[in-house]
Amino acid sequence: MAYLGDPKKTIEVLQKYQFNFAKKFGQNFLIDTHVLEKIIRAAQVTKDDFVLEIGPGIGTMTQYLAENSREVFAVEIDEKLIPILQDTLSEYDNVTVLNQDILKVDINKIAMERNGGKPIKVVANLPYYITTPIIMGLFESHVPIDSITVMVQKEVADRMQVGPGTKDYGALSLAVQYYAEPYIVANVPPNCFMPRPNVGSAVIKLTRHENPPVTVENEALMFRLIRASFNQRRKTLVNGLNNSSELNIPKEVIIQSIEALGLSPTVRGETLTLQQFAQLSDEIEHRM
Ligand code: SAM
Repeated sequence: MAYLGDPKKTIEVLQKYQFNFAKKFGQNFLIDTHVLEKIIRAAQVTKDDFVLEIGPGIGTMTQYLAENSREVFAVEIDEKLIPILQDTLSEYDNVTVLNQDILKVDINKIAMERNGGKPIKVVANLPYYITTPIIMGLFESHVPIDSITVMVQKEVADRMQVGPGTKDYGALSLAVQYYAEPYIVANVPPNCFMPRPNVGSAVIKLTRHENPPVTVENEALMFRLIRASFNQRRKTLVNGLNNSSELNIPKEVIIQSIEALGLSPTVRGETLTLQQFAQLSDEIEHRM
């Protein structure tokens, strides 16, 4: 069977079904078999694996996943793609397609029912408009995950892997690095997609840490502190935390806690490492 990622085959399928791309669903289909092979290799999918794919489109990547894994569960929001997927994936008996919004799917339940609660692999060419909620949702809901190998906007991939002192450093960098080890697999130019996106893309692999690299007593408080300090990036950390509607910490407690870390009260949140946010969270927790 011809690979769907071959541009001629993609066009043939699109024409057969007179499919019109829906911009609102972030539809940019991959039409480069080398990129597809690279994603599959990076994801290290084996015949033992249960793979969750988000947004299969016409099944381009699903086809590779079906050939290399034990089982694929693909969640696609666009109902117009469902009959197409039934056709293009008809020869695979290890693929399930669910017509649903991924943000509404109980992935824990699926991992439990289909993979006995063992860690799953997530592989996707993500719809860029919901990259952050998808990735944070997977981590925060404590879905058993081995790794997430995904195509994202290049700028977002950069944000996930940088440390303090760079303009891209922010809440997403800290959250991703708390849960996983990020590694940029490849940069992918717009001409590898149909239609071409206006931005550069990158494949990033996030390998779940067995244990987080820092220990913190109250994980939820640490993430509230992180969000508050980057919401008001140009303010000092004291003001950022003091002004946040998500927190209700007396200003003296904030100042004392920052000083307990050996930092100046005029420090900005964007200079703190994950370790320092964890310590700050513990200091605040002890004073409340
Ligand atoms: N995997 C295909 C490929 O690589 O050619 C398509 C990737 S395209 C960038 C993103 C896909 O995600 C589209 O098929 C789109 O319809 C789907 N999608 C968008 N929002 C979604 C959501 N909330 N839940 C599930 N799928 C979604």
